Amino acid sequence: MSSLKIAIQKSGRLNEKSVELLKNCGLTFENYKSSLISTVSNFPLEILFLRDDDIPEYVQDGIADIGIVGENVINETEVDVHYLQRLGFGKCMLKIAVPNESELKNIKDLEGKAIATSYPVILKKYLQENQVNATIRTISGSVEISPGLGLSDAICDIVSTGGTLKSNGLKPFADVLASEAILISKNGIEHNGIIKELMQRIQSVLMAKETKYVVLNVDRTNLDTILSLLPGVKSPTVVPLAEHNWVAVHTVIQERDFWEKINKLKAAGAQGIVVMPVEKVII
Ligand code: ATP
Ligand code: ZN
Repeated sequence: MSSLKIAIQKSGRLNEKSVELLKNCGLTFENYKSSLISTVSNFPLEILFLRDDDIPEYVQDGIADIGIVGENVINETEVDVHYLQRLGFGKCMLKIAVPNESELKNIKDLEGKAIATSYPVILKKYLQENQVNATIRTISGSVEISPGLGLSDAICDIVSTGGTLKSNGLKPFADVLASEAILISKNGIEHNGIIKELMQRIQSVLMAKETKYVVLNVDRTNLDTILSLLPGVKSPTVVPLAEHNWVAVHTVIQERDFWEKINKLKAAGAQGIVVMPVEKVII
């Protein structure tokens, strides 16, 4: 079988999680910082390590078949690619921010103002959608210092914690785009067998991340109440314990219901609750 190429970020905020995801999918490869390409030894795939800005176009043009890149970069490069899967990491928000003392209140107040950004394409679309005419000043880095230098009235930049905004005397003003890492493919090749196989593995890794394996002990008299709290993948496993009338219940629960469920289980008489990570969920 001839192999496919996947493009991932060479270094930066998406590199580590992209490599981790592929390794969790059972792929074995060397991850030398110096090499641009790495061959997976147990799956028909080659990995290209690139700057994130180049990934969307490489995938669109078929130089790489698939790629992992932030949605902000995909939108900014205006490429035509197929979205295979949202990956749940690299989450951030493209926001407009203004100086703390600014009197701008709503989007319409940006009319006639200057906004500095490294995302002119996305910002232009956003302003058009909101029917605002503003000057876009495109700068490639350190956008947040531009209002302080008198170069703009506002900025549009990626914000995750807001720390950088704060330390530059800026406050959030409007959300422009919520972004996360996306697995994309060249259009028209999404049904390729290798991609399907990889997608299946990725989905089972993502699903496992949201799942916990729980074991608990309970007196048989309380078993029905406990079982009603535990939907499980199909139905929970119940195993008798050496102690008379006690059983162990094994099941999986969703991470998001976790604390609420654990407290309810304890209240219903569950003891010795053990929670374990799940590596993969195959359905
Ligand atoms: P490259 O050298 O590959 O061009 P870069 O400096 O452009 O890297 P990074 O800062 O590594 O990019 O960010 C890569 C992606 O990570 C962003 O495009 C965005 O999708 C995502 N991301 C998540 N959180 C943040 C954040 N706090 N700031 C910037 N990007 C973030
Ligand atoms: Zn970049």
